[in-house]
Amino acid sequence: MMTASLNLPFAHLQEKSVSHDLVQNEKIALEIKDLTVSFDGFRAVDHLSLTIARNELRVIIGPNGAGKTTLLDMVCGKTKPTSGQVMFNGHDLTKMSEHQIVRLGVGRKFQTPSVYEDLSVMENFEISIPNLHGIIASLKYRRNVDLMQLIQNMAKQVFLTELLNHKAGQLSHGQKQWLEIGMLLMQEPELLLLDEPVAGMSPREREQTADLLVKISKGRSVVVIEHDMDFVKRIAQKVTVLHQGKLLSEGSVTEVQDDPRVIDVYLGH
Ligand code: ADP
Ligand code: MG
Repeated sequence: MMTASLNLPFAHLQEKSVSHDLVQNEKIALEIKDLTVSFDGFRAVDHLSLTIARNELRVIIGPNGAGKTTLLDMVCGKTKPTSGQVMFNGHDLTKMSEHQIVRLGVGRKFQTPSVYEDLSVMENFEISIPNLHGIIASLKYRRNVDLMQLIQNMAKQVFLTELLNHKAGQLSHGQKQWLEIGMLLMQEPELLLLDEPVAGMSPREREQTADLLVKISKGRSVVVIEHDMDFVKRIAQKVTVLHQGKLLSEGSVTEVQDDPRVIDVYLGH
């Protein structure tokens, strides 16, 4: 009886902390839990846990072979993990196909740009509009005002307004990267995964892309892999450092840059 009455205020506190946790959970978009994948016994990602909040722009850095691309492969369903979970809005993505994951609102950009080179920039945007099945269906789609407006807005956002009628094959490498980001945005993903999107871009294009990513992360979560530290600084968000498949460090750009473990890995001591 003594215990019961003593427990009362404590129980109250517990209740408060549970509801606080729930509030926290509502802000989480992606939760990676103890994720591991082995290729012939080699652990490319090794018991990795991390969370990405809604509307967060997270940068993932790490030396070559750290497991960055493999991590994104597991989030988008391209690679099945050996163990662990990838929770996205209450769904365990490790149990779903790539198509199902796309339909849940996850967009992925691979390292090399993949656009339809023989189609114009406008046509590339058109075919990426959801609910239009296949290229032919979307090209037959009437170019009504709303559709044009949608494409023009997107072209403006990704710096391609002047190039709408050019063939995608004529674009520079950086412009193709922008086109692909725009095509992914057409599908309004809740989570956008970008693997080295500024590779092959000029310094000016990198700056523009940094600003673009900051802007598009206002309405969605964005995970971007990049090792250009000037680019990372310009984005100035939370950084996760991977090394040998494990989480080495996490924090602001200055925090991770000053972390002795990170300095060690990058300077190769
Ligand atoms: P990062 O993107 O950080 O440079 P990756 O994720 O591409 O690194 O690769 C991490 C490690 O896993 C590398 O050593 C790579 O060789 C290995 N790896 C990735 N995919 C496979 C695979 N399908 N089969 C065997 N090894 C792989
Ligand atoms: Mg990679």
